[in-house]
Amino acid sequence: MPITELVKLNIKQRNRQKIITVAYALAVTFAFILSLTNNSVEASVAGNERVNYLLIENNVAQNLSNPETIYPEDSIENIKNLFSTVNALVQEKQIDKAITVQKGDTLISVLNDVGLNRNEANDIFAALKKEFDPRDLKIGQKLHANYTIRSSSGEFVRLNTFVIETGIGERVVAYLNENDEFEVERQKDEMIEEVNSATGSIDGTLGASMQKQGIPSRIIHNFIAIFSYSVDFRRDVRKGDKFEIVYENYIDSEGKVIKSGNILYAALILRNDKIALYRFKNKAGNIDYYTEKGLALKKTLDRKPLAFKNARISSPFGRRYHPILRKYKIHWGVDYAAPRGTAIYAGGDGVIQAAKYYGSYGNYIKIRHNSEFSTAYGHMQRFAKGIRPGVRVKQGQIIGYVGSTGRSTGPHLHYEVIQNGRRVNPRTIKASTGENLAGRNLTEFKKVVANIKSSYSSMFAQNETPKIAKK
Ligand SMILES: [Zn+2]
Repeated sequence: MPITELVKLNIKQRNRQKIITVAYALAVTFAFILSLTNNSVEASVAGNERVNYLLIENNVAQNLSNPETIYPEDSIENIKNLFSTVNALVQEKQIDKAITVQKGDTLISVLNDVGLNRNEANDIFAALKKEFDPRDLKIGQKLHANYTIRSSSGEFVRLNTFVIETGIGERVVAYLNENDEFEVERQKDEMIEEVNSATGSIDGTLGASMQKQGIPSRIIHNFIAIFSYSVDFRRDVRKGDKFEIVYENYIDSEGKVIKSGNILYAALILRNDKIALYRFKNKAGNIDYYTEKGLALKKTLDRKPLAFKNARISSPFGRRYHPILRKYKIHWGVDYAAPRGTAIYAGGDGVIQAAKYYGSYGNYIKIRHNSEFSTAYGHMQRFAKGIRPGVRVKQGQIIGYVGSTGRSTGPHLHYEVIQNGRRVNPRTIKASTGENLAGRNLTEFKKVVANIKSSYSSMFAQNETPKIAKK
């Protein structure tokens, strides 16, 4: 038996004189049921007065949104109408199809795949274009089609709605109006900004400890990234240390989290040292985290920008005997031996200056971090998706994968740090300093700090020390 849903057909007897009418109505009912070509409708009659239920295949029942009530005085016409509706619905079936855009797909090709012919596809394409630029269709984007087919043959009948998801909680919807024309509208879920706070003791990893407090994983990832310049999580963070956080969530009207927002405040209490940082967008539009006094974080470059943290140094910076050239020469970087395909991270925030095959370096990337520092990466197997000159990267972002291209004896990362145009030892670089807040920026920033302090001072630790832990 197929999945069925109950649709109640109550024939209320108001008047004994109407029993004959009811009996006649029931005869009509059975005639209709027998006339249905599809077996997915059944009926049961109690006594000779009442239709108890109709079992109708699930998708038909969904279309009969309200159980129909039929009264004896007008039952014949009502039953006729109802059953002609049921009949049509049984012969047709609605399909909901979720589509993920694949490489090479266009809006037209997707509509063709659903079953629309070229004219129909062009019609809806023209309607959609008013709200959505078809060139914006991206691989992986989610689409939904609701369309009607014939139950017996599976033949495509019509498209009812077509949805393009354009963002989290945002979509462009095309639907058939009463005149059988497509109307298109842009929809956006109402998002409510919610500010949450949490504090807790660290037991095990910081990530796991934060997860226990119900903090979303993207927020945890960002929290760790904020401190990644100034805290060595493996060395500095111990059991019993604490964290504090104030962050935003966006929820819908039912309280479901649609997306996570920004971290407004982040603090780590490492033994007696509290590092508290506040988010601030300066007049130029740059967002960064500052101490209570408006001091920027001291940022340092990653000394081992690899996903494989146990990678050993296979060749240090400086003078060495070259195994291929068989002579002594200066080695201008550090080599880390790591399995082929290990992810390589950007050593710091910056802009990709080069991503190309570069002689003995093989596949090579150079990143400019600021006026003082650049980093370079050699012998890569391949570059990460989207990495090309001009692209902005964040510290810790994957830029490529370990390989053995160029002049190389085995898979390893050759990592160079260039300071003021000179290659220096990545293992002994000194931190560069971010810009501190001053003037009007500092005045505005102090309001932000006061706001957070007044709201959360009762739950957070008081012994604040404004200095940043040294790496
Ligand atoms: Zn090397």
